[in-house]
Amino acid sequence: MTGKKVIAIYPGSFDPVTFGHLDIIKRCLELFDTVIAAILVNKDKQPLFSPEERLEMMRDAITDFGPRVETIYFDGLLVEAARQHNANVIIRGIRAVSDYEYELQMALMNRKLAPDIETVFLVPDQKYSYLSSRLVKEVFSCGCTPECLVPDAVARRLIQKYNLSR
Ligand code: ADP
Repeated sequence: MTGKKVIAIYPGSFDPVTFGHLDIIKRCLELFDTVIAAILVNKDKQPLFSPEERLEMMRDAITDFGPRVETIYFDGLLVEAARQHNANVIIRGIRAVSDYEYELQMALMNRKLAPDIETVFLVPDQKYSYLSSRLVKEVFSCGCTPECLVPDAVARRLIQKYNLSR
């Protein structure tokens, strides 16, 4: 191994961040020197939370991980954001076979655009394999507020968004 630092960029909507995302970040810390959670500011998508809210929730959720985890916004091409932040690895989480086809397409496109940046797929703990931001929003929007899906600060924001009480 060379002494080169491995910086991983973990892109996503994180609308909102879930325990599944945090499980992936924790795994990254075992493998890489730095992990950058990169929040996609996609103007075509209609996220529930603004980029600022998503960043605040992520920042709050990663405080216990220490200084090797950072969070940023990005817009446009992921490989450009990766270059800007000197990342040499892209991380994506794979939950089930259904994630694979889209992720493979994206990984191969990113390789075309930036052959020097490697995509690494990580698998979360089995207990998070059913978990997605979309499902979390669905559950909370129906008035259910389970504690096992998202950090407490995120649950509080969801409760506020949907005018619920716990
Ligand atoms: P995107 O819109 O890019 O899919 P997400 O925030 O939904 O953004 O997901 C970001 C990344 O995290 C993706 O690689 C996704 O597969 C992964 N991911 C999402 N939920 C989980 C989970 N429960 N366990 C592991 N990986 C996950």
